[in-house]
Amino acid sequence: MRSAGRQRAIVIGAGIVGVCSAIELQRRGWAVTIVDRLAPGEGCSFGNAGILAAQAVVPVAMPGIESEAVSMLLDPESPLVVRWGSLPWTARWLWKFRQAANLPRVVATADAMKALYGTSLELHEALSRQAGVQDLVRPTRYLYIARDPAKLDVENGLSWRLRRERGAEIEVLDGEALHEAEPELSREYKRGVRLGPIGYTLSPFRLTQSYAALFQREGGRIVRAEVRALRPAGAVTGLETSAGQMAAETIVIAAGSWSLDLARPLGLKLPLIAERGYHVTYADPGISLNHVLSEAERHFAVTSMEMGLRVAGTEELGRADDPPAWRRAEVLERQARAMFPRANLSSGSRWMGPRPGTPDSLPAIGPLPGHPNILIAAGHGHLGLTGGPNTGRIVAAIASGERLNLDLAPYAPDRFDPTKKPDVAVAFIPGKTA
Ligand SMILES: Cc1cc2nc3c(=O)[nH]c(=O)nc-3n(C[C@H](O)[C@H](O)[C@H](O)COP(=O)(O)OP(=O)(O)OC[C@H]3O[C@@H](n4cnc5c(N)ncnc54)[C@H](O)[C@@H]3O)c2cc1C
Repeated sequence: MRSAGRQRAIVIGAGIVGVCSAIELQRRGWAVTIVDRLAPGEGCSFGNAGILAAQAVVPVAMPGIESEAVSMLLDPESPLVVRWGSLPWTARWLWKFRQAANLPRVVATADAMKALYGTSLELHEALSRQAGVQDLVRPTRYLYIARDPAKLDVENGLSWRLRRERGAEIEVLDGEALHEAEPELSREYKRGVRLGPIGYTLSPFRLTQSYAALFQREGGRIVRAEVRALRPAGAVTGLETSAGQMAAETIVIAAGSWSLDLARPLGLKLPLIAERGYHVTYADPGISLNHVLSEAERHFAVTSMEMGLRVAGTEELGRADDPPAWRRAEVLERQARAMFPRANLSSGSRWMGPRPGTPDSLPAIGPLPGHPNILIAAGHGHLGLTGGPNTGRIVAAIASGERLNLDLAPYAPDRFDPTKKPDVAVAFIPGKTA
């Protein structure tokens, strides 16, 4: 039943983005319900690499990506895979991806990434404290590693320039210095680059669940149901769900890779696909790491977590619900064994998760065109865990009519729509910080 005088908000999706949005709406006085067909954190937020990438300013679409992508697509061990059966879904996305890979756009995207992700560690530290799980969030540094030092050219590489110009601390560790910093690493690796400060979580799943529990303790409701359609009708939007009809003044679509199923029928033109990634987690590896590792040639990450050593990566462009191709996980397993020759990596648990990806690596945050009370918060790609808390604050500020000291245009949900007109509701408004 509706409590007198309180505005209702329904958040669709109990992943990290939906749960953080629900908490922030609740803190602004909304009566909030989360609806998800799964339990909190069981979507893509379940099995990520746990990195709170506060220095993330480099989009996937970088100048020169085309030639790199072609050689990757020809390599069976490559981290990049296009599921050819999904080409009707991915072709337009790939075209927009190519358009995003130019220097002026990349520089603008880097600024927008910094604005969204730069406070990630502090925001997760605060939320995890409030949720009573502060031990799950830790400060750390990345260690990028390569066998060929030329692959980590911090002096001339554009990605390093983007990071340095936005405040990252960068330290090169060659030869012995690298192996002193990370002793379990194979001697085949010749160069490391330490980058920070960043953070990581010991369990992205338990972190999302703990935030959901905090939301419930503070009076929030979680309904386990599938949302089938949204029916806007003036100031109230109805929801058709597997558990019956629901309604609220504000709806937030935070349904990850599935968000378009609900937003497209309302007219949103957003290229959003599943950038499917895999992990293998080794429960008893016999080693632990001093850093979060990022393999610069094969593009995968390794994190020491409470459930073991997690090796995570792969960019398989396709549809969220296609069955996993476990040979992708086998590639990660082979690469992990080569990376840590002394570790016990005989058997690990495998997982596939669909990252909700846009061509320019920026999420869509804001109202759907023509539907001011229906917001979308989706498309964080490789960085949804990192961006969950700040996205939640932005969503709640927009819904509550607060002023934001942030230019929202880079995240506009209709930014890829060629017919769009400038939207004053998401323009830059100086004033209060979200
Ligand atoms: C291998 C891998 C490694 C990664 N590593 C990192 C990392 O280190 N750091 C980082 O920041 N990010 C990382 N990511 C990305 C991150 O995991 C995602 O960006 C993030 O989980 C997306 O969160 P979300 O809440 O948008 O989506 P999800 O977690 O997928 O949540 C969406 C929810 O919506 C629900 N839903 C969808 N449709 C409906 C419907 N119609 N009705 C009801 N419910 C619905 C789903 O059940 C799901 O629970 C990684 C991803 C992968 C795959």
